[in-house]
Amino acid sequence: MSRRISLPQVSPTHCKVCYAADRDGNAGESASSGASEALLEPEEHVLSTLEADGSRRWLRPKLSMGEWWKRRRVVAYVLMVVFVAIPHLRVNGKPLILLDIAAREFTILGKTFYPTDTLVLALFMLSVFVSIVLITAITGRAWCGWACPQTVYMEFLFRPIDRFFEGTKGKGGKPAQGVSPLWQIARLGVYLLLCMFLAHTFLAYFVGTERLAQWVRTSPIEHPSAFLVMAGTTGLMLFDFLFFREQLCLIACPYGRFQSVMLDEQSKIVAYDPVRGEPRIKGKRTHDDQSGQDTVRGKPAGDCVDCHQCVVVCPTGIDIRDGLQMECINCTQCIDACDDVMKKVGKPLGLIRYSSQDAIARKPKKLLRARTIIYPIILVGVFSGLAMAISSKSGFDARILRGRGAPFTLMGAKEVSNAFNVRLVNRTGEEQTYHLASLHDEVEVEIIDEDKLTLPPGESTLLPIRLNFPSYLTLNDGNESIELQVSDQSDNERTLSIKVLGPRR
Ligand code: SF4
Ligand code: SF4
Repeated sequence: MSRRISLPQVSPTHCKVCYAADRDGNAGESASSGASEALLEPEEHVLSTLEADGSRRWLRPKLSMGEWWKRRRVVAYVLMVVFVAIPHLRVNGKPLILLDIAAREFTILGKTFYPTDTLVLALFMLSVFVSIVLITAITGRAWCGWACPQTVYMEFLFRPIDRFFEGTKGKGGKPAQGVSPLWQIARLGVYLLLCMFLAHTFLAYFVGTERLAQWVRTSPIEHPSAFLVMAGTTGLMLFDFLFFREQLCLIACPYGRFQSVMLDEQSKIVAYDPVRGEPRIKGKRTHDDQSGQDTVRGKPAGDCVDCHQCVVVCPTGIDIRDGLQMECINCTQCIDACDDVMKKVGKPLGLIRYSSQDAIARKPKKLLRARTIIYPIILVGVFSGLAMAISSKSGFDARILRGRGAPFTLMGAKEVSNAFNVRLVNRTGEEQTYHLASLHDEVEVEIIDEDKLTLPPGESTLLPIRLNFPSYLTLNDGNESIELQVSDQSDNERTLSIKVLGPRR
């Protein structure tokens, strides 16, 4: 029963723990004894998706086709198209996104990164993390309700299929009686086809569309691992969308658990307004001019007519009137359902609305909060670092490493040699041959293995070289700073600074 994050002004009779304590006349007893009795004597539903006997409570949320649902539907279908299109899009001949784990290459926005790009990858991960924290602090769980693939595909692809094959009462809810086995099989067939398509699309992000098309055209025996990955992904998707469903958000997704530390009282959430709605009571309202309050059968009545429409539409099975809960994915279905009811009973819309815990408690809005100041500052810093790290990448990487063994070798009386390895990474999409030249007239570059000067696209090598120079160059300090220029056929250039070592006077 620890799922509730906070309860903004909720009537105690609607909290399940207190409800049980009230019911048993133990409201004045210690919290611990009251809570344990309540846990031992659960209500009809222990959790939103668990019956009192421990069995799964299958949810079949009714659909409310209000304004928010229409907006979410547009966003959802745009996102579906984007998800399918991304692996097919190219920037400068390279995929927009390709996470080739096998080849250890990550192409993002047409730029290829390698595991050696630790700084870029670390900054990228950090920017994603800080963005999530910032967006959640401002907009609550907007990601869950509007953009998470689980919600998008479940609510706008698979549930419509359920409603098509199983039929519904009205706009949603329980299926019509007597769905024929043939229709059920047809429904499973459509699920299978869609999950296979989505699994192929998902796989394209990791192997690219060309290789995927080639695999699709050939027998699975020729590429058994890829086939197994695709079959496993299809199976997982089927398991998720057919069976696991909202459990993924409630049990498996870590984001829902973290939200309590990412939200504050000013964060946007989908919230019920208990000040306006309570006391909730069914029945026709009579307005009492003296008190200015509505009454039902002589009792004071809030705007909530206790119709439960906000509950029957909820895809996670909760009652938003219980306050902010971890299970709420901010899908806005309860807003639409309640607005519909409010229209019918002639009350202002927005009894359930996008708001914040402070706004619901009638506390002033604070635009500047620690989170909305500190997180953007961190984010600007991380993005600047990321932009600099990316822009500093030319068509290749070159790093110089001192060779093992003696710091220098005397070649006769007047010449010195230093051994180095140059780590070269070809970041272009074409084969490149590299050229190395010293910017110091007296230093000669000797390539030990000329074959290693040519690199296929995306490949890296360790090129052994020697820098030879006259011994007087280092006589003062025993070392001298020189510069080495590395260039490729595409006119990309890099200048490396090196300290050569030699004898001193
Ligand atoms: S409480 Fe409302 S917003 Fe939250 S998941 Fe349920 S229907 Fe969606
Ligand atoms: S839909 Fe609105 S009026 Fe009906 S129970 Fe929910 S909050 Fe109350």
